[in-house]
Amino acid sequence: MMTLDGHCLCGAVQVQLAREPQVVNMCHCADCQRRSGSPFGMALWLLEADMTITGETCEFAHDSDKGRTLINRFCPTCGSTICFTAAINPGLIAIPAGLFADPNTPPPLRSVFEERRHSWVTVPDGAVRLPRGRDGQAGGRVALKAGVASSPSVRSANAALCSRQCRSVKRKLR
Ligand SMILES: [Zn+2]
Ligand SMILES: [Zn+2]
Repeated sequence: MMTLDGHCLCGAVQVQLAREPQVVNMCHCADCQRRSGSPFGMALWLLEADMTITGETCEFAHDSDKGRTLINRFCPTCGSTICFTAAINPGLIAIPAGLFADPNTPPPLRSVFEERRHSWVTVPDGAVRLPRGRDGQAGGRVALKAGVASSPSVRSANAALCSRQCRSVKRKLR
């Protein structure tokens, strides 16, 4: 079992999961490479209600190449990505696996945007591999079992954390 407690590089922002993630994705898209500074992003996808953020975060909204809005939240002190949400996956939240720095993190179920994969990056056996994201290909969209609705209190608490002081950072890319 992986640890359910994570934090940013400087420790000012803590994340806590209510349970182990059901979906782990590796994504080779250009945005994940730039966001993470790594050849691919590895994210745990959870229901928003299953994650608590403590500490102030800033947000950066941008459009994917398909015109879909993504919002990244990051620590204003050290810059670590804390989470991101995609308009295509309402009610879900993605957390970089790196916040936990835990070798027991489950392996990815999906490897997406493989058209941007560095040739030397290997993908674990059994992972669903897609050249891009969803786009009509089965398995591309994150699917979590419904049943636990995203709690409004968690949502508004997270929104409040994001809205302080750093609005000027938020901008739309065209
Ligand atoms: Zn930090
Ligand atoms: Zn990506």
